[in-house]
Amino acid sequence: MSAEILCVGTELLLGDIVNTNAQYISKKLAHLGIDLYYHTVVGDNADRLSQALEVALSRSNLVIMTGGLGPTKDDMTKEITARYFGRKLQFDQTTYEHVKERLESYGIFQMTDGQKKQAMVPEDSVIIQNPEGLAPGIIMVKDGKAVVMLPGPPKEMKVLLEKACDMFLNKLSNQVLVSINIKCKGPDEMPLKEIGEGPIADQLGDILDNENPTVATYAKEDGVLIRVTASGKDREDALIIMKPVVTKIAEILGNKIAWVKEDK
Ligand code: ATP
Repeated sequence: MSAEILCVGTELLLGDIVNTNAQYISKKLAHLGIDLYYHTVVGDNADRLSQALEVALSRSNLVIMTGGLGPTKDDMTKEITARYFGRKLQFDQTTYEHVKERLESYGIFQMTDGQKKQAMVPEDSVIIQNPEGLAPGIIMVKDGKAVVMLPGPPKEMKVLLEKACDMFLNKLSNQVLVSINIKCKGPDEMPLKEIGEGPIADQLGDILDNENPTVATYAKEDGVLIRVTASGKDREDALIIMKPVVTKIAEILGNKIAWVKEDK
């Protein structure tokens, strides 16, 4: 199972908004133990969105999309994905009732065509109702490929991603990934030549080639971060697997370590 995140929105390409959805979903997939190999961003353009989806599905089994599920003409994520899978859009009464009730709670009793469009969903798809907004999330699966479509607004995306995990994503992996971050002290406390990424990597030596857990170093402005990531059948199992390596790193680096924390 390998995944790709495909975020839709011209605002992202223009730099008007930051792609926090991709960051959030990436963390989630890492914790679920699903390998994520690509992030793609595409604007609200039908041809380029179709192309991006085609490329994503040619190299990944799972594509998680955000954005473009709203009521306006430039929202076309579900139309294009449905077309890719050879499925039609059909009216969904439950989604319609949900949209209607939500609009009524805002004092809106007359739906626009765009709002009615939110109740059109691809046939043979799984619908995730949206307690925070109008656009439902949608899961489509065909021939070993799956697309999970989530709305763009982060608050809605997060709630629906959680539901998508319960309904679908949790079953895709029988492993979880757990990471421990080890922070080496910053330059104020120790000379940079001792705690720079190079010297730390030299001291860790072969540990950096370890496979489970993996160990990686990252240069940060205030020191070096070492990330130890283990794959296990559950969190406890992963923590047991990584313990000898974390202990070894602590022995090697001693008082250069500022703190050790699980990455959540
Ligand atoms: P809506 O029903 O609100 O139109 P939508 O699914 O069509 O939802 P978009 O119109 O693409 O989503 O985006 C709505 C808003 O969500 C954007 O203006 C932006 O504030 C936020 N948003 C969209 N995509 C992202 C992203 N990748 N990261 C962070 N915020 C995002």
